[in-house]
Amino acid sequence: MSDDAVLPAAASPTVRLRQVLGQMPDYKPGKPAAAAAGVTPYKLSSNENPYGPLPSVLTAITEAAMSVNRYPDMAVVGLRERLGRALSVSSDCIATGTGSVAVLAQIVQAACDAGDEVIFAWRSFEAYPIVTQLAGATPVMVPLDDQARHRLDAMADAITERTRVVLVCTPNNPTGPTVHRAELDAFLDRVPSDVIVVIDEAYVEFVRDPEAVRGLEVWRERPNVVVLRTFSKAYGLAGLRVGFAVAHPEVAAAIRKTATPFGVNSLAQVAAVASLDAFDELNERVESIVAERERVIRALQDQGWKLPESDANFVWFPLGADSTAFSEACEAAGLMVRQYGDDGVRVTIGEAEANTRLLEVAEQFGAR
Ligand SMILES: *Cc1c(COP(=O)(O)O)cnc(C)c1O
Repeated sequence: MSDDAVLPAAASPTVRLRQVLGQMPDYKPGKPAAAAAGVTPYKLSSNENPYGPLPSVLTAITEAAMSVNRYPDMAVVGLRERLGRALSVSSDCIATGTGSVAVLAQIVQAACDAGDEVIFAWRSFEAYPIVTQLAGATPVMVPLDDQARHRLDAMADAITERTRVVLVCTPNNPTGPTVHRAELDAFLDRVPSDVIVVIDEAYVEFVRDPEAVRGLEVWRERPNVVVLRTFSKAYGLAGLRVGFAVAHPEVAAAIRKTATPFGVNSLAQVAAVASLDAFDELNERVESIVAERERVIRALQDQGWKLPESDANFVWFPLGADSTAFSEACEAAGLMVRQYGDDGVRVTIGEAEANTRLLEVAEQFGAR
């Protein structure tokens, strides 16, 4: 059916919608892999896991599919308890949502009234300004430094009486570096104790930097810290939509209150539990993605590229005005990548063949 067929005949609507919607960019999903002449296309634009589900996870999903006529467990008890065991935290401290993007929206809704401020680095995760504005709050964006790292001193300077939440993304999407424990501690010492600091660890399983923040360790010491994790990246469940926060019990309860009722569906709940049960097997895959990342970064350095460090499952090419040309060169070779305007291009570490092809494109393009 064409779009024309579903549009109503009436003229433009007179209903009132919130003004903020007009100011917000649409969330841009990664493009699907497009076929280039004669080569296998690869989608390296959404930081997904290249591996399909483990057999044990698939079995759990298939069995759960038999009872989709029933609502899921609204309180997500089984998954929260299993997570509690895996992380050595009480299940009272865990709040789930339909992806950690949704959990983040729940946090902002729980903390912010209209006009309150949410501070985060920029560039960082594209969802941050969207969830902030949708909650009626005001985004305060603090530019990254020239190594594409958070400027935590400037973020602390940006705190006002209206600040309710600060988002710290480590490793930072889309640029790759981690935040280090020492700098985070110095920052947290400057943050008022009634301001929530979210440590977004979507890529924590890929981190090998010994100085990097370990969110749970910080959370244990600071009641205003919330750790955000997802099953979408290392666990390979992006299509099922499940993420969670670890927070002190009152904060976790507030985050659960702002969730969509029955949001985390029954297949997602059992798949997440089965994935935690299969952690060792999944971790082998994570190790191989990390090995591929190291191979790609070393080869790019050998080609002469100057790139920021990456502890995630992607690399960032800070190409400025050359970003469009580079992303077009990748697409012509069958690689879908994510371009961020005139800032740069993010490329996910994917299948070995895809990564090797990226290295060929990068070499031909010429190191910057
Ligand atoms: C991918 C990602 C998330 C999580 O996404 P969900 O699929 O909604 O769990 C959260 N934060 C960052 C920085 C990400 O890159």
